[in-house]
Amino acid sequence: MVFPASSYRGRLAPSPTGHLHLGHARTFWVAAERARAAGGALVLRNEDLDAVRFRLDFVDAMLEDLRWLGFVWQEGPDVGGPFAPYNQSARRSTYRAALEHLHAAGLIFPCTHSRRDVLEAIGAPHEGADTDDEPVYPKEFRPPAGAPLPPLGEKISVNWRLRVPDGEEIKFTDGHFGEQRAIAGRDFGDFLVWRKDDVPSYQLACAVDDAAMRITEVVRGADLIKSTFRQLLVYRALGTTAPAFHHCPLMNDASGQRLAKRHDALSLRTLRAQGVTPAEILGKFVGEPV
Ligand code: GLU
Repeated sequence: MVFPASSYRGRLAPSPTGHLHLGHARTFWVAAERARAAGGALVLRNEDLDAVRFRLDFVDAMLEDLRWLGFVWQEGPDVGGPFAPYNQSARRSTYRAALEHLHAAGLIFPCTHSRRDVLEAIGAPHEGADTDDEPVYPKEFRPPAGAPLPPLGEKISVNWRLRVPDGEEIKFTDGHFGEQRAIAGRDFGDFLVWRKDDVPSYQLACAVDDAAMRITEVVRGADLIKSTFRQLLVYRALGTTAPAFHHCPLMNDASGQRLAKRHDALSLRTLRAQGVTPAEILGKFVGEPV
């Protein structure tokens, strides 16, 4: 086995909630190119936490599509590695330990308000609203700072949120987009770290895993820039070092709509069935700045 010469560690972190499309191919290509250029390692993490949307057949399809495109990873669910397991569904105890840390430090609070309550409190439209990002959690729903917390309990049946430092500017320098700033409590609010169906949130699981797997640079789509501010607060709360971030511009379809997993026409499976080759797909990205 050839060990990478550099300490760069990147990752591909797809969720098995649909078939991968051209946009994923481009983001993963950037991630793979940056790891290759740095002489580092690439980790594949299967983000299969969301039991409601996740499907086992998508996991196989995801790995197969990535291999078909020619991506190679040194660690992952299929090849193992020093930070196994690489399936998030098998990493619950790690997330639970992080949650207990946040609880002991008094940095989270239980929330019994529904999404509807939150939208009503901030006067936002309900259904059909742009659900691209979580609404800012209303301050009046928070328990007072320092109020004693109820125990987490063995089985969690209430949402737990991280209390963000109101008014603090959170910033990072993105490898592609440059300096990024957001004000906690204004641009994003108290966010979920654990869901009442006893599932860790994406924000918690992702930051915990990137730290645990010693990822040095996170390459992902620009739709997750706002998540990065939240995850920076998770790293801080857990006393772990944050990686560098490099967000990739999103791809649009011919009508200007952002590509999503529902765009089956542009899924890698469909393109492959139509006879499009990996070289034709990746060839489109070569020469783009990474
Ligand atoms: N699993 C997430 C997704 O497929 C990406 C997470 C990340 O790269 O941080 O949307």
